[in-house]
Amino acid sequence: MVHEERAHALLSASSAHRWLKCTKSARLEEQFPDTASDAAKEGTLAHKLAEMKVRNYFNPADVSKRKLTFAVKKFKEDPLWDDEMLLHTDTYLDYIRDVSIKLPAEPFVEAEKRVDFSGYVPEGFGTADCIMVQGSTLFVIDFKYGKGVPVSAEENPQMMLYALGAYEACKFLYPVTRIHLGIVQPRLPDGITDWECALEDLLAFGRHVKERAALAFSGEGEFSPDEKTCRFCRAKKQCRARSDHNVKQAFNLGGIPPLITNEEAGQRLLAMRDVASYQRDLQEWALSECLAGNEVPGWKAVEGRRSRDWTDMDAAFEKITKTGIVEEELLWEKKPLTLAQVEKMIGKKDFADAVGSYVTQKPGKPALVEASDKREAITNKISAKEAFQEEI
Ligand code: SF4
Repeated sequence: MVHEERAHALLSASSAHRWLKCTKSARLEEQFPDTASDAAKEGTLAHKLAEMKVRNYFNPADVSKRKLTFAVKKFKEDPLWDDEMLLHTDTYLDYIRDVSIKLPAEPFVEAEKRVDFSGYVPEGFGTADCIMVQGSTLFVIDFKYGKGVPVSAEENPQMMLYALGAYEACKFLYPVTRIHLGIVQPRLPDGITDWECALEDLLAFGRHVKERAALAFSGEGEFSPDEKTCRFCRAKKQCRARSDHNVKQAFNLGGIPPLITNEEAGQRLLAMRDVASYQRDLQEWALSECLAGNEVPGWKAVEGRRSRDWTDMDAAFEKITKTGIVEEELLWEKKPLTLAQVEKMIGKKDFADAVGSYVTQKPGKPALVEASDKREAITNKISAKEAFQEEI
């Protein structure tokens, strides 16, 4: 599989969470280039390594140890290479291996499998990182190298589309009745999630998708601005629906009661969660327009605050010490690596074995998150039990 050639259909599986909700987004996005960020390129490199490892483990006749070693050597020449890719791809392989070992018989496994789900989505195809089938269970496993946004396997539309494609390809060979989705996002602390559903649930999803995809393909249906839906949309800076929605959230607050209630605060925070990021996107776009020489009434581009840097730091330091202004040692500071940097350098396991007992967890600063967040809610309120203990 040539990873750079992971061509994208108009209704790609990776953007399904968007076009399923905002059916008009797919055609609107067509007007904007699909540029790959450095993070995406880094992910592509990690996927190449992951694929080679899976193929080496399950099919050594296809990818021998020697071939894998040679491939790793080549990958290391890439400027985006980082040794931690070896650890993270191991976590992915360990997950697949653990799933396969627990099965009653040897599964059929394919890495980087092209799946065709055009029976549900016009021109729909994609590449699943790993497909595994054993008995009546179809496994679809995805390796996510990003660490910005946690992705859950639960009702994940991208994975469900891959599952539909994989099911269509293998339904005559395997009596599939259960679908298991697994996401391995190894750069996040709780980055592994699993979810299972019955084949009927997957097919019901397929019927829903078919309706929404037909609308999205013809550019019909509705715009549906929302923080999560718009986050990675290529049209997000200029989309009028998102703009109108956020302006309304920011300014159209209805009546002006003297004090708002907790209930209203909660509702308003939920309604306005995309306003700040929308403002940043709009500023970025307006700046690019000003720099291109186009007028954005009321705004202009200026040079930001200047920063100073040495033209030749060694020569400057030498001059300072030679003239006796200060000793050379005073010009340098010795700083320890952070705990995370040391862990990254020596690897999670060696870190835990060698210095795990010296690590303590400090409580994090209280943060406001949505009620759907999986973390346990905290409070400063003293419970009756604590109050009683204080008194005795
Ligand atoms: S920015 Fe949001 S509302 Fe606009 S097209 Fe994209 S997803 Fe839809």
